[in-house]
Amino acid sequence: MPIYRRRATYIEVYEQNLPPISLADMDIQDGDQSTAPLTRVQKGRPRKQRVRAGEARIRNSTCGTCGEAGHNARSCRRPHM
Ligand SMILES: [Zn+2]
Repeated sequence: MPIYRRRATYIEVYEQNLPPISLADMDIQDGDQSTAPLTRVQKGRPRKQRVRAGEARIRNSTCGTCGEAGHNARSCRRPHM
């Protein structure tokens, strides 16, 4: 059994009290505000690649995320703001 899973190690680690941390003493600056991470569609199998013979591809959709033509927001691979 590895040492970090041994009962004696747990007892030794938690033998002393862990003092509470005061948030008021922390140096928090305005730039430290956390924001949600940007989401991005992962690479993978192409969703719609096949164009059947005789089927004209209509590409007049505009993306609601990035504003570019040729794809929609669902298939957009750019970061979603
Ligand atoms: Zn887009």
